[in-house]
Amino acid sequence: MRLILLGPPGAGKGTQAAVLSEELKIPHISTGDIFRANIKGGTPLGLLARSYIDSGKLVPDDVTVDIVGSRLKDDDCKNGFIMDGFPRTIPQAQLFDKMLDERNTAIDAVINITADDSVIIKRLSGRRMCPCGKIYHMESNPPKTEGICDVCGSRLYIRDDDKEETIRERLRTYHQQTSPLVDYYQKKGLLLDFDGTKPKEVTTREILESLKNLTKRV
Ligand SMILES: [Zn+2]
Repeated sequence: MRLILLGPPGAGKGTQAAVLSEELKIPHISTGDIFRANIKGGTPLGLLARSYIDSGKLVPDDVTVDIVGSRLKDDDCKNGFIMDGFPRTIPQAQLFDKMLDERNTAIDAVINITADDSVIIKRLSGRRMCPCGKIYHMESNPPKTEGICDVCGSRLYIRDDDKEETIRERLRTYHQQTSPLVDYYQKKGLLLDFDGTKPKEVTTREILESLKNLTKRV
């Protein structure tokens, strides 16, 4: 199965990707990881990408698609993949479709995990960290004394990434980037929506079930 995973930060995309990868025996491909690997490994594409990044420019879509394309030639992608973090733009999606078409393959489904912003903000902004490494959550895993670590007694703090304004900003960017892609794949009849606010196991079951129906149809 060739899958694309869409979903805002905090909707459980990472967890679903890991479970699906195991269940379907296809690799979870995070584009951030491939970029880092190419740059670190000094591949021609990595060097090219780096030259843009170093001069403060965005890596052009065709370079990004080529980097993804070279990863998909690896043996473990023979039976498919779960793409995470790519495509991000319509031109990338179009170039990706073209590339797959040239390789006589295509995307089977786009898994869109949705959750209301208010739910995500509540989830992510409740996280509290301790310098000792212990992590709490105000709702699901609060410390016995508010603001104090159970283990070492230190004062808990909120990471910058978990501050409400930061989360709102990330969600805004996500929606701006992703809504055109949602439309794009919907029009192609590939989009499958899932409710990311349900318990994770329930969402996983629903995804696997609808993928199974998809294979039956083919
Ligand atoms: Zn502590």
